[in-house]
Amino acid sequence: MEYDVVVVGAGPAGSMAAWAAAREGCDVLILERRAEIGVPKQCAEGISARALREAEVPADGPWIAQEIRRGVLALPTPDGIETFEVGGIRGFVLERKLFDRWLAIRAVEEGAELRLLVEARGVIREEGRVVGVETTSGSVRAEVVIAADGIESRVGRSAGLVPPLEPEDLCTCAQYEVVGSVEIEDAFTIFFDPDRIPGGYAWVFPKGSDRANVGVGCRGKSARELLNELLRGPLSEFVSGGPVELNVGGVPVCGPLERTYDDGILVVGDAARQVNPATGGGLNAALICGRIAGEVAAEAASEEDPSAERLKEYQERWERELGDTFEAGLELAEIVSEVSAEDVVEFLKDVEDLEGLLRSSGLLEKHWWG
Ligand SMILES: Cc1cc2nc3c(=O)[nH]c(=O)nc-3n(C[C@H](O)[C@H](O)[C@H](O)COP(=O)(O)OP(=O)(O)OC[C@H]3O[C@@H](n4cnc5c(N)ncnc54)[C@H](O)[C@@H]3O)c2cc1C
Repeated sequence: MEYDVVVVGAGPAGSMAAWAAAREGCDVLILERRAEIGVPKQCAEGISARALREAEVPADGPWIAQEIRRGVLALPTPDGIETFEVGGIRGFVLERKLFDRWLAIRAVEEGAELRLLVEARGVIREEGRVVGVETTSGSVRAEVVIAADGIESRVGRSAGLVPPLEPEDLCTCAQYEVVGSVEIEDAFTIFFDPDRIPGGYAWVFPKGSDRANVGVGCRGKSARELLNELLRGPLSEFVSGGPVELNVGGVPVCGPLERTYDDGILVVGDAARQVNPATGGGLNAALICGRIAGEVAAEAASEEDPSAERLKEYQERWERELGDTFEAGLELAEIVSEVSAEDVVEFLKDVEDLEGLLRSSGLLEKHWWG
């Protein structure tokens, strides 16, 4: 084979997988269809301190825009906006353009080869097994293909592992990076109003006192129109200023694929829908599952056994690490879809120690992020 492992997509999942495989001594190729890694960003850039630690990413690099210590939940009431605070949060708002680029550089420094402006069109199969990918600049053969090609996952679809997304599987998002004035500098602020924002929420993730990602994810509405409306209304209590960037994108909130491996192929990150269905966060899972995918692919390639039976270990390992987080996320999303802002305000008013409650339920440390 030309390569031990070919990774399609240089997002967080792909670069993490490539780094992990190269670290095991494999010949790794990364294919990225864009000219520049991490651009455009399609992310509010929130990440937990734990996720950075597990990905062995220093928490003091230039990719850190803001340290986060609190969460603020804001809800509409007849008398205005009511807020509830959760302390004990350890997280960051990233500069994804720098973060994604650094993850790719780390993989290249470990020995992986990166080709930009190469788009994978689909897998090559021989005797039922995936043996490489067809790309816009020819074919590439490898013992194991890792499809880390994001929500569309052309490669995962061509391998028959990724079904088309149905509208109910998806939350559509619009976000501005705003320059102006940010009210709360060290908190993730979440605005929850199911009457106005069906199936989602709005957020303000600060990047210092004068910059923030302000966005909304929802179902069945135009996210961009809704965001403009919210910025003129309730979100103006938390942030003001003008946009310097618009990002739009979809988040798969249906829970992970049932099967993320086959003969010669693994699927990882958004491609595998490894996104927390309650928060829409996918960075944590992309990094953890990316590392596992890279390690298992490297071991299988060195044993010259890229069979589905061998690669199944990837699924077993990510399910052990994150299976209960995805399940808790699905349950929480189900509960949240049935409550009103008024119900939440009533409930939270009676809670004396919100942080303690979230901590004891495991939500804060284990499931809140990702
Ligand atoms: C508006 C918005 C806000 C979000 N906010 C957060 C947040 O605050 N925190 C959080 O944890 N998550 C957030 N997410 C989710 C998070 O951005 C994703 O889960 C994460 O980027 C997934 O990483 P990935 O590597 O799987 O995919 P991606 O980051 O999508 O990377 C996929 C890569 O593959 C490349 N590619 C695609 N197809 C091909 C092909 N055929 N050939 C070659 N290359 C290809 C793409 O160009 C891209 O570089 C947000 C998502 C959206 C849309």
